[in-house]
Amino acid sequence: MRVNENILISSLTTMRLGGPARYVIEAETPRDIADAYGFARTLNLPVFVLGYGANTIGHDEGFMGVIIINRMHGIFEEPIVNPETNVKGLRLKIMGGEYWDNVVEYATNKGLTGIEALSKIPGLTGAAPVQNIGAYGQEIADTLISIDVYDSATGTFRTLTKSELNFSYRHSILNTTEYGRYFVISITLELYPGQMPRPLYQSIENYLSENNITDTSPASIRAAVSAIRAIKLPDPATKPSAGSFFKNIYLSETDAEAAETKGYPIHRGNDGIKINTAWLIEQCKFKGKLIHGFRVSNTAPLVLINESAKSYADLDQARAKIINKVYDKFGYWLEQEPVEIG
Ligand SMILES: Cc1cc2nc3c(=O)[nH]c(=O)nc-3n(C[C@H](O)[C@H](O)[C@H](O)COP(=O)(O)OP(=O)(O)OC[C@H]3O[C@@H](n4cnc5c(N)ncnc54)[C@H](O)[C@@H]3O)c2cc1C
Repeated sequence: MRVNENILISSLTTMRLGGPARYVIEAETPRDIADAYGFARTLNLPVFVLGYGANTIGHDEGFMGVIIINRMHGIFEEPIVNPETNVKGLRLKIMGGEYWDNVVEYATNKGLTGIEALSKIPGLTGAAPVQNIGAYGQEIADTLISIDVYDSATGTFRTLTKSELNFSYRHSILNTTEYGRYFVISITLELYPGQMPRPLYQSIENYLSENNITDTSPASIRAAVSAIRAIKLPDPATKPSAGSFFKNIYLSETDAEAAETKGYPIHRGNDGIKINTAWLIEQCKFKGKLIHGFRVSNTAPLVLINESAKSYADLDQARAKIINKVYDKFGYWLEQEPVEIG
């Protein structure tokens, strides 16, 4: 167990905000996890589990507690056969410290479908089930079978099945009813060779036709998604952000019909009915604007890029300005996607 002291949260999170964390423990074995929680208990300090920090924001005053990071690596595979189709696939057990995009690369290199559209989502594997990462028509819930966790409430190691995780759009029990209880050690996926069904997400279809690409193998879709994301989304290495800062707003059929009569763009998909939330922000003339040091992305207006903000107070003001304007103009409350430490 490696215990580091007084580490700036801004250096551990992609939005690059946040003062010092009193302790940061890197867990390299399951034993380390139990010891880290024990360490926090002895000092009577709160725990925050952190991954790559791509969906997490730090506060200016830092965190008087213990941050625990999963540093366990490895991808372990086991052959499986689909009982209905007889198709051979692989069950992958992936340690939570693996960088998520390496997992996608690993699977697509083997011709396995199911996570290729989740290419280039920054973060560690342990965080993937927390908010049920999703993009371009896929989400981790589609292929996840179970996760191995440390249960901090009972001090035991457990396996939680997919149905116990109660997945929905950007939600699972890990960020709702059981928030803060489980430390994800590893996740298990079942993947089979194949291709995503057509039609694909509109932006992927457009990219393929514009580039005369007919190959829809997992590797080809991974390449397409990677290219689309490189144009649309900021690279956290050079442009600090937490990805989509605001969630898409999902509507009931009745509310969607009411919105349509007002001419608001509505998208009906497998995952539900949503209003084009980026459009709401755009209509408020925020697209491309710099607000208290945060640039509202020109290509993806749900994303705020930290260009020059130095403090959480700046974020507070930028967020309030956008949320209030959208509410005044359209009557919808924008909800924040990233979580906050402390
Ligand atoms: C440029 C950019 C683009 C993005 N695009 C997408 C996208 O397309 N789709 C999408 O869904 N997300 C997207 N995100 C958000 C982010 O990439 C995902 O939420 C990702 O899963 C975060 O992983 P992380 O390791 O950085 O998690 P962190 O930010 O470190 O943590 C996120 C949450 O998970 C918890 N957590 C982390 N590790 C564990 C663990 N081992 N056990 C228990 N809890 C844990 C934390 O406590 C926190 O609540 C994007 C972010 C950026 C910066």
